[in-house]
Amino acid sequence: MAPMDSTTIKIYGPLRDLTLPPICPACGAAASVPLRIERVFARERRRRGVISTAPRGITTYHCVALTVPFCHACAARHMAERAAAADTPPSHLRSTAFMYGVVAAVAMAGALLFGAFVWNAYPGGWRPALTFAASIAAGCAAFAGWFAHQVINTLRAGATPPPTSITAVFDVSDNQAARFEPEWRVYRLRNATYARAFAQANAAWLWDETSPRFARAARLRHLAGTLRVATIAVLLVAFILFALRAGRP
Ligand SMILES: [Zn+2]
Repeated sequence: MAPMDSTTIKIYGPLRDLTLPPICPACGAAASVPLRIERVFARERRRRGVISTAPRGITTYHCVALTVPFCHACAARHMAERAAAADTPPSHLRSTAFMYGVVAAVAMAGALLFGAFVWNAYPGGWRPALTFAASIAAGCAAFAGWFAHQVINTLRAGATPPPTSITAVFDVSDNQAARFEPEWRVYRLRNATYARAFAQANAAWLWDETSPRFARAARLRHLAGTLRVATIAVLLVAFILFALRAGRP
């Protein structure tokens, strides 16, 4: 969404801990009607392959919802817009959800097949082949569970209506946290009065370079990077020493 003249505020912490000022985010009047703000985010899980350089992977869908109070007049406009847009065509995400469902079903069939093999064979005594089959069954089940979870998320995303001109004034981003960072989101607020009140109400959770948790996360990331390099170096030295000793007559 193009931010037209809005204030950007970054807040960390869980969404339920957010403090909402009692004024309307659209016009600044006293707020009394809670409206549901819903956004859908697509996360690309892609990386370059080892053999081919083409990025591959899948897209997962995530919904975020929170209840924000608006004034009576703005809430009425929101309802009217929703009613006018009631007959929107079904989302293209339904076919994506179906595809993920097929993958989940195939993986589940694999889990059942290997599970049944283990079930039938183990009375005859445990063998290494059974450990192998059980591992495959467990892997397939975990894979199926993950894809089933994506089916639910994708269906939910497909059923989420787009924002109206009213709910668009309060925009919330997906979780932006890097490694070791707490959950944080970017809020884009159209009304300047509301933005000031919102920043004040959540002043303790503002997220930027001056936040102590920001500095700590950066230090931890740096430490993890150093640790990884040190581990690789130690392994390399150990391997060389081992090779030298093995080479001796
Ligand atoms: Zn209003």
